[in-house]
Formats: sequence, C-alpha cells, structure tokens
Amino acid sequence: MSVCKRRDERLEASDLVGCRYRCLQRRRFPEIPPLETSLQRRVRREAGLAEVFRLLPSSATSGRKRGNFLRIDLDPQAELAEFETLEAIASGADLITNAVFGGADWVVTVDVLVRGADGDYLPVMVSNHRVARPDPHAQMLAIATSRLGIGEPLQVAAALRHHTVDGYRLCLAVRGLAEVGVDTQVGAVIGQDRNRAYLVDVSRYAAAAERALASPPPAAPRRVKECASCRFWVVCEPELRAVDDISLFLSGDRADAYRRRGITTTQQLIDASLGEISRIATAWRAGIPVLRRQERTTAPRFDVEIDIDVEAYLDLGAYLWGTYDGGDYLPFVIWEGLGGRAEAQNFADFWAWLMARRDAARRHGQTFGAFCYASSGENHWLLSSARRFHGMVPGVPDEQQVRAFIASDQWIDMFKVARTQLIGPGGLGLKQLAPASGFHWAEKDFAGEDSLHAYLIASTSQAAEAEAARGQLLSYNGDDCRATAAVRYWLRRGAASAPVLG
Ligand code: SF4
Repeated sequence: MSVCKRRDERLEASDLVGCRYRCLQRRRFPEIPPLETSLQRRVRREAGLAEVFRLLPSSATSGRKRGNFLRIDLDPQAELAEFETLEAIASGADLITNAVFGGADWVVTVDVLVRGADGDYLPVMVSNHRVARPDPHAQMLAIATSRLGIGEPLQVAAALRHHTVDGYRLCLAVRGLAEVGVDTQVGAVIGQDRNRAYLVDVSRYAAAAERALASPPPAAPRRVKECASCRFWVVCEPELRAVDDISLFLSGDRADAYRRRGITTTQQLIDASLGEISRIATAWRAGIPVLRRQERTTAPRFDVEIDIDVEAYLDLGAYLWGTYDGGDYLPFVIWEGLGGRAEAQNFADFWAWLMARRDAARRHGQTFGAFCYASSGENHWLLSSARRFHGMVPGVPDEQQVRAFIASDQWIDMFKVARTQLIGPGGLGLKQLAPASGFHWAEKDFAGEDSLHAYLIASTSQAAEAEAARGQLLSYNGDDCRATAAVRYWLRRGAASAPVLG
C-alpha cells in the first residue's frame, strides 16, 4: 500500500495521476494556499456538478421505478459521510449523490450512485473533460442524465476519450462498492455534455490504478507540465535550481535520454557538447527566448490579411470569434446561448463577414489570407460549428465548405510557419514568441484557464462583474489576434532580435 499520506491521511484519485511529489509537498507545506486557478477550477467543477444534480431525477413518473423512487443527497464533507453512504445503500436508494468510500490509504467521493435492477450500484463521475466524441463507426452505451435510476442505457454512435483521472476515480468507487458487495466493473462518466452519462468498462483502469496506489512518491521534484499551475512551485523551483536540475530546461520525460547517460544538470548538458541540444541549452541559460534556424526569415504576405482567434467554453461551444484586419479588431461574440441558435447565428455572422472580405478582395484583384496561431482549436470549432448548425440558421456553411477553406492556401497557421524557422528553448507558443517580436498583452498573466473562469463570470454574474469579465475576454482575444499579426510582421522583417543558432 502507499506510503504517502495526505491531510486526511488518505489518497484521492487525483493524487495518483501526474506529479506524485505533490503528496510530499502537501505534507511539508500545508500552509501554502491553493492558487487562484485551482479555486477557479473548483468553481467550474461545482457548477458542472450542480447542473448534473439539477438534471437528475428526484422522482419517477415513468420507467421501472414509477411512483417508487428514492433519491438521497449526501454531504461529502460530513464527518460521517462514509457511514451515511453505507446507510443509503442499505436503504436501497435508487440514486445517491455525493457518496463517499474509503480504505486505510484512499478515499473517493462518488458523484452519483445508481442502483441497478439486481441491487448493484453503478458509480457515475462528473468530469470537466470531453469524455466521448461522436463517431459514426463506433458504438457505446449511454444514458440521459435525466433518466439515471429510472431508464436503461442505449447504444449511441460515439467513442470514449480516455482520461486517466476519471478512470481512477471510478476504480476507487468500484473498490468501495466491492467492500459492501454491490459492485460491478462498469461505471459511467458525465463530461462537458451534462445531459449524457457514458458507460465505461472500469476494469481497463484497474491494474494501473493499483500500481499507482502502491508506488511510493519520488524523493525529489522534477519539472513537469503541471508545475505551471501548482501551488508548490514556489518551493520546488528553488530545490530544482539549487541542483541545476535538467528538467528546468527539458521538462517531463524530455531529458530521460540524457539522464540515462548520466547527465542530470543543464550545465552537464552544455558541457557535453552534444550538438544542437547543447547549443539550445546554452541559449536557454543565457535567457534567450527565441533563436533563428537560418539567417533569413519570412512569412506569407497577402493584400488583405485577417487574423482570427476563437474562444470556447469547455466543449459547450465557441462564444467568440475574434478578427483583426491590421487596423480594426472586430469580435463576433455571444455571452449566453451556447449550443443553440444564438451560437449558430454568431457563427453565421462571422462566416458571412469573413467570406465577404474574401470576395471583396477577389473583386478588387487583391490576394487574401486568414491567419491563426496553432490551428487545432480554430479548425475544431469551424468544423464543429458547421456540423452542428448548418441548416439551423441561414448562412452557416456546410462541412465541405469549411473543409475546403481549411485546406486552402488562404488559411495559414502561423505556428507552423514559425516553427520551421525558429527554435524556442522554452517553447514556441504565441505567449513565448510574440514578446520576442515586441508585442505584449494588455491583460498580463491571463491564460487559458483564466479565460474559462472569466467566461463563467461573463455569462452568469451580475452586470458590473460580468461587464468587467467581458472586457477582459475581448481584450485578451483581440491581443491574441494582434499578436499573431505581430509575429508575422516580425518574421517578414527578419526576426533580427532572435540570434541565429550558432
Ligand atoms: S511544483 Fe511541480 S514538482 Fe513540485 S509538487 Fe508541483 S507539480 Fe510536483
């Protein structure tokens, strides 16, 4: 069993994924408070949970439990939550929310327990992940959230998306249910679409979860992706700096090959003179954010250029299509109605405007190009909007039209353009690259997670607070568009502020 104990002496599923050093730091530094982003994540999770609890049945007017339905809502923070869970199960409740199970080393809150016809319970977890995607070639069982406990699952054309922490939560839930003899190896996850629970074979996660529970935490920190949003960075970073740990330069497992050769510090990597990687490490040590691969840099040029950046809220929809034509920033935005006609109309307006600019350019004999930075988000929402909304309101293109645009030489991903010519010792994201070109965001320290939280405020809070969040989101999105343009102009000028990789 695990040797890592936490505040309440037990591990949760989230402790088994990612950095295990957090467990030690939590015990060593209980006084370090959670970061704002963690608190915001908690708020988003609670909002999702509240939505699911609202959708769950509280009585049965149809189905097999008609007129004879018992739902018990527990308090997971209650001192006797585990005992109350057992009592609720013993009472034969059809739905139990906020059930809690635990063993000597672990504890789990199960968002919903659903009693089956045979008396076993199906654990259901609410996740802020996208847990399944539509797939005409795949089949899964799913049940409407509003039918949990009163209906049966149906086959749907979708494929599961794997999220380890959701799987581990279900494993711990099955462990708890097994101890009272009401378990199955099936669980369910409700993702960003709160209306549907997808059934999951929990056994696929069991061996890995057991291994994770049994493995001891590491003896020292190593910089990984999560460090960027971890409250213990303030204590881990000095530890890493003190030993010049190579993970400060190459995070996660990117330095494994060098560690196997006995190279554990950045200075050792520099001194080893291993070619390009040692030269990049030297630049990193000197604080140089971007290097040129070649003397001359360039970027595509058109008579009419539009920079585009999309903002979406989880998987629920795209609420903002920002555009910048080199002079004006024009946002197409809605603050409510994601997934419905309002989003469809907003997308239709954006598309009509973009196509009108393209057609006008053509009429005037001008060339036209639209740019984004790292196109996966924009491409996803362009295609998803076409699939969801074509035919719902006039002006929404069909999927083929969008695919033709994405494949055309009028849609350019500036990240792809940049990475063929530049090297970023700390990465080549827009946030790293644009400052090297001289561009700075008005909203400092505002990143992806902040925009999620700001949208929640912008779409649900009282007027003044909502207005401030909307202003913040428009400023952030507008600057993302302007930053993309700035990188392009800088590359055309030769990116002289980036030294050539020697
Ligand atoms: S800062 Fe990084 S290494 Fe330290 S506990 Fe957090 S995630 Fe782990």
